[in-house]
This record gives sequence, structure tokens and C-alpha cells, in this order.
Amino acid sequence: TRQKIVAGNWKMNGSKESILSLVNGLLEMKNANSEVVVSPSFPYLSMVSELIGESDLVLAAQNVSDKEQGAHTGEVSALMLSELGVKYVLIGHSERRSLYAETDAFIASKAKALLAAGLTPMLCIGETLQEREAEQTFAVCIRQIQAVIDVIGIDAFNNVVIAYEPVWAIGTGLSASADQAQEVHQEIRAFLAQSSLSVSQKVQILYGGSVKASTSAALFEMPDVDGALVGGASLDAKEFIAIVKAAG
Ligand code: 13P
Repeated sequence: TRQKIVAGNWKMNGSKESILSLVNGLLEMKNANSEVVVSPSFPYLSMVSELIGESDLVLAAQNVSDKEQGAHTGEVSALMLSELGVKYVLIGHSERRSLYAETDAFIASKAKALLAAGLTPMLCIGETLQEREAEQTFAVCIRQIQAVIDVIGIDAFNNVVIAYEPVWAIGTGLSASADQAQEVHQEIRAFLAQSSLSVSQKVQILYGGSVKASTSAALFEMPDVDGALVGGASLDAKEFIAIVKAAG
């Protein structure tokens, strides 16, 4: 059985003060069965890394350069993140695809850079409302995954987490239903099974998009939903802890 992951994507939110209180709130949580992950903006990574210390909280970053080092002003390398104790890095988030024009190929090269540094990509995929209405949901998700397989190979997906985040559900309050999420997760797993049965059984597939405590239990009951990637609700320690509890 796959361990569940409950990950908070804080996006470009928080201050020293609010993050200190959020992390302290999360550190009060005991006996979570899931892996609980937080992803602050770059400037707060080292502070959060120190705060979480030897606790069970796990650190993620929201972005990474696809380059190893050198003249890339403003970029942050995978090695730098690994030195800060980061385990996961979000790539392919819909906000980066749509607002910063990141392509499938660019995202794939970030996945490669992360794996080379021993970090685990959390690959975000998902369709827009228009694509769903045109019955392109599965085609879009597969295209986004295949672009990464083309660069890192299927076996490397033993060290990749997938987050299915339908764009229409992100920040809208309109979560996919548990059945809608399960349907896509199952199709993703079936697609991976065509190349590697063992990878398809191992890979953790998280759901993201307006996850709240009140809707998370139904999601977590689904056989192919291995956790959640939580935006807005992860900024509130109580709400986020309730989601972690719902995961079992
Ligand atoms: P919300 O939970 O705020 O909809 O955001 C989801 C998300 O984008 C997580 O990466």
C-alpha cells in the first residue's frame, strides 16, 4: 500500500511572522500516518527547515532551475535546495504553466535536474475547464506526463510524485468530486501500467484543487487517491491538520 502524502503549497504567501506561527501550529500535530509536507517560498526555506528540525514535517520547494549552476540570475538550483533539506519540489504547477509560460519540455528538464540532485519532483498536471468540456482531460494529462517520461524514462517515475490538479478546481472553491478525481487517477495509473506495472503500482498520485477538511475524507477513500496537494487551506494550521487527520 502507498503511503499518503498531504502537502501544503503556500504559494507566494506569508511573512516571517505568519510562517513562524503556522509551522509552530503544525508541529503540535502528533502521530500523523501520512507524510506531511510544507512548501514555503524560497526566502523562508531555511527558516522553515530549521523550525521543523528533526520533526516528521517534510520540506518542499515551489520551483527550481533546470540548470545546474552558473550565469542564471534569479534562479535557484536543485543542489541549493537539497542543501536546505528540501525533499520534494513542485514542477508543472498550472500557475507556472499559464502565468510563466512553462512548457512540457521545460518542466521535463526540471524533473531531470531534480533527480540528478537526489530530489523528488512533484509533477503537477491537469486540464482546464475548456479542455474538460472538450473531453480532453485524459489526453492533456497523458501529454503532460509523457513529456516527462520522454526525458527521464519510465523507471525514474519510481522517484516522482504526481499531483492531479484540474485547473478549474484551483483556487475556485470548486473541488473535483471524489469520483471525478478517482476516475482520472485511475486512468493515469493505467497509462503508466502500459510501460511499467511496478511503477504504476508504486507512484503516489495526489489530488489538488480546493481541497478542504470537509471534502478531503471522501477523496482519501478513493483507491487511487494517495493524498492531497493543498493550496489555500494549507495556510490555516487547524484546517490543514484536519485534512491530515482525514487522511488517516
Ligand atoms: P487551492 O487548494 O487553493 O485550490 O490550490 C490548489 C493548488 O494549486 C495546490 O498546488
